[in-house]
Amino acid sequence: MRIVIFGPPGVGKGTQAKLLVDKYNVDHISTGDLLRNAVAQKTPLGLKAKTFMDAGNLVPDDVMIDLIGDYLRTNSSKSGFIFDGFPRTIAQAHALDELFASFGISLDAVISLEIEHESVVRRLSERRVCKSCGHISNLSVLEPGKESVCPDCGGELYQRDDDKPETIRRRLDVYVEQTRPVKEFYERSNRLTQVDGMRGIEEIHRDIVGILEALKSRKLVP
Ligand code: AMP
Repeated sequence: MRIVIFGPPGVGKGTQAKLLVDKYNVDHISTGDLLRNAVAQKTPLGLKAKTFMDAGNLVPDDVMIDLIGDYLRTNSSKSGFIFDGFPRTIAQAHALDELFASFGISLDAVISLEIEHESVVRRLSERRVCKSCGHISNLSVLEPGKESVCPDCGGELYQRDDDKPETIRRRLDVYVEQTRPVKEFYERSNRLTQVDGMRGIEEIHRDIVGILEALKSRKLVP
């Protein structure tokens, strides 16, 4: 199973990817998480990426394509992986096709989570992430007085720097200008399936599993 979870920031790509990883035992490649780890560890990649991320801009394509190329060089034979946050530009989408072709594998499906932009702003500004286990939560579901306690592991919840209002607006503009065309690219090649991302987490998960099971029964996914 090699799939891309696609959609604007805050639509729930990470949450859905984690549920799929638990169900299908596949790798989760979140380019955002990889970059945030690199920034925290002050690696050369992190130092390069930080200014772009802080401003809500995309990290340059050559950096991102190298990152995914490195991952595939050691993991292309794995039975499955889910890309979350990649590709985000047309150049990245082309590069992913070329990389897959060079490893003799193919992309099975692109699941596009759909949401209204107004809801994105609210969801992102209310999003909280656990420093210990990476659990993604939201102020609207956290008990009053316990807004900084992870409901999963008791760790400390924090707000990502780029989830502050001024950066959210920029990230949405970047999505519209540079990332939304990727959706049309996959639509044109009949690889995209849309899922309503405005519903509850479990409901969305059930829909995605239904799509993947249907693909499996048509033998498009091993
Ligand atoms: P995310 O956690 O997916 O929202 O990503 C956080 C930030 O990391 C983005 O706002 C970008 O600055 C950067 N980033 C993540 N994935 C990519 C990508 N595929 N291309 C360029 N920049 C990316």
